[in-house]
Amino acid sequence: MRWGLIGASNIAARHMIGAFRAAGGEVAAVMSADAARGRAFAEAHDIARAAASVEDLLGADIDAVYISTTNEKHLAQALAAVTAGKHVLCEKPLALTVADARAMVRAADDAGVVFATNHHLRNAGSHLAIKQLIDDGRIGEVLSMRIFHAVLLPDHLRGWRIDNPSAGGGVILDIVVHDADTARFHLDEDPVQVAAMDSEGALGRGVEDSVMSVWRMPSGVMVQTHESFTHPHAGSGLEVHGTAGSITARDVMTQRPVGEVALRTAGATASTEAVAFSGHNLYIRAVERFMRATVGEGAPAATGLDGVKSLAVAAAVKQASVSGAQVAVDYGDAAAEAN
Ligand code: NDP
Repeated sequence: MRWGLIGASNIAARHMIGAFRAAGGEVAAVMSADAARGRAFAEAHDIARAAASVEDLLGADIDAVYISTTNEKHLAQALAAVTAGKHVLCEKPLALTVADARAMVRAADDAGVVFATNHHLRNAGSHLAIKQLIDDGRIGEVLSMRIFHAVLLPDHLRGWRIDNPSAGGGVILDIVVHDADTARFHLDEDPVQVAAMDSEGALGRGVEDSVMSVWRMPSGVMVQTHESFTHPHAGSGLEVHGTAGSITARDVMTQRPVGEVALRTAGATASTEAVAFSGHNLYIRAVERFMRATVGEGAPAATGLDGVKSLAVAAAVKQASVSGAQVAVDYGDAAAEAN
């Protein structure tokens, strides 16, 4: 597969270019809005062609695009790529509104191209092991989930994320979408109602840098989440509590295949056991799944619909936080589509 990169971004440089190549793909071209930056990026990453516009990039000999520009640009770029018949792997959040995200996914469906969301956490060995434990009934009936995803935003990411609402900055669009996708992945249901409170602390300038929220699932399961850019020592993790046991996972809400997962079971033989999991690269698995989907073998790890739904949860969290009221998650007509 020949890839065109829309966006000379950090995530492309640090994770995705390596993943495309490791999965057997070729990175044929990169597009930057700044021609000199694009040329420098292409040279630094051994990419043959630097394109100065989306149209220029789409005119190159490529099969798929990876969109990792700032969030307000995803919509127009994805629509252009779909119109040109390219498969699309798009960064999260897919867009700034659920309606825009839905339009992108619908356009891809109409054009018959594969559209996926780069929610990497579903691809982690840790999360695949946790999901297996839940599906195997090892903790009985699930009662609740807690996700803690409060980090200290590294210096190299402290640009638009902390001061630019029109580019989709703020911790809700940045991290809540990942946690929403992770909860949906593990529980196989979509949050229906949320309550939330956010704050603009040490880093945010015009956008929130911390948020806590509670989500109700259709089954009655409750999910509690905490996302932040300002916590140096909190670590990340996830807990799932059930009628027959609990899963506790530390340092698993991350880009790397690290962390610890433990299973505590109930009953006379109550015990806590460490759970082994695969240490494969999250992004390579995502790209491999995407590439297989383009030849009719299965679906991407996280589909376009998954990206629409994770954004709908984040939008509800923001609305609940601003209004102080509980908010029903509005999936639009995506609600009718099975996961
Ligand atoms: P960056 O800030 O690195 O890049 C975004 C845009 O900013 C680029 O497209 C580029 O514009 C411009 N830019 C980047 N570096 C510079 C620079 N040094 N000087 C001037 N302009 C610059 O964004 P991220 O990589 O952090 O995020 C990009 C997207 O990926 C977002 O949608 C984000 O939410 C998502 N993301 C997803 C992750 C995941 O694990 N799934 C992890 C991190 C981010 P141009 O292309 O025009 O040169």
